[in-house]
Amino acid sequence: MSQQQPITTPLFSQHSRSWQQNRYVYPVISRRSKGLSIGVNLNPDRICNFDCVYCCVDRGQGKLRRENVDLKVLQDELDGMLATVASGDIWQTPPFDTTPQPLRRLNDVAFSGDGEPTASPALLASSELVANLLVKHRLDAKIVLITNATLLDRSSLQPVLAFLDDHNGEIWAKLDAGDEELYRQIVRTQIPLQRILENILLAGQARPIVIQSMFLKLNGAAPSAQQIDQYAARLRELVAAGCRLRLVQVYTIARPVHEAGLEPLPGEQLDTIVAQLHRDGIPAEAYYAPAKYAL
Ligand code: SF4
Repeated sequence: MSQQQPITTPLFSQHSRSWQQNRYVYPVISRRSKGLSIGVNLNPDRICNFDCVYCCVDRGQGKLRRENVDLKVLQDELDGMLATVASGDIWQTPPFDTTPQPLRRLNDVAFSGDGEPTASPALLASSELVANLLVKHRLDAKIVLITNATLLDRSSLQPVLAFLDDHNGEIWAKLDAGDEELYRQIVRTQIPLQRILENILLAGQARPIVIQSMFLKLNGAAPSAQQIDQYAARLRELVAAGCRLRLVQVYTIARPVHEAGLEPLPGEQLDTIVAQLHRDGIPAEAYYAPAKYAL
């Protein structure tokens, strides 16, 4: 029998990146953050080097055009948002006025948006801006970098990662499969899985990191036992090579996606994956589909 999620709310399914008139900053109540996460979207152009089947971003048909981040606008939006959080006004504002009490806490400001944040030239300046504004508003929160790990080896990214290390930062790196076939089915990229694993290792040797792994049913088929074994084996290899894993987040779809043929993985199967990782001594936690997807 599946463990029940301790606290749940329809807000887990509402991760709109639109908030009032903002271009970059949006609040969400997040399962994995166990509270409020302030999203910072550094990819308003929606360009990403992955094409995940479960991506919530509608990229339409035409070619996307690069768009630079306006740091002044980002600063004003985040300043206003954090003021709303610091004063508590966020909890009087729909839909956040329905947030269950235990989730009424700011967990993080997260670089997570409509593309891969590490591809944005504005990431370092934005990280500095986030750190300064958290201090200004006397808020204690993590700065989370949600990444597909493709660029973690870039030399230009190392100063950003060092800055985050010094400012309560945390890397959440995507690893959705341990074998090339499932990996390509899910994230649909030409970038080999091996490169992702090498980049995760590099980042995880330098500081503890979080792995985020999405599991789902694709056209009715859940990942096979062999595929889960392969996934667990990759994690064991990473640990054996010196990768420090703070947590592995085993999660499934929580909100509407654009692709047909996708369903959340039932809670029991998420629990089975977590139990397998626990047997290997790997810290892991399951995040279930909200009730709307109850199976
Ligand atoms: S890495 Fe993130 S933004 Fe890019 S396609 Fe996948 S889910 Fe979407």
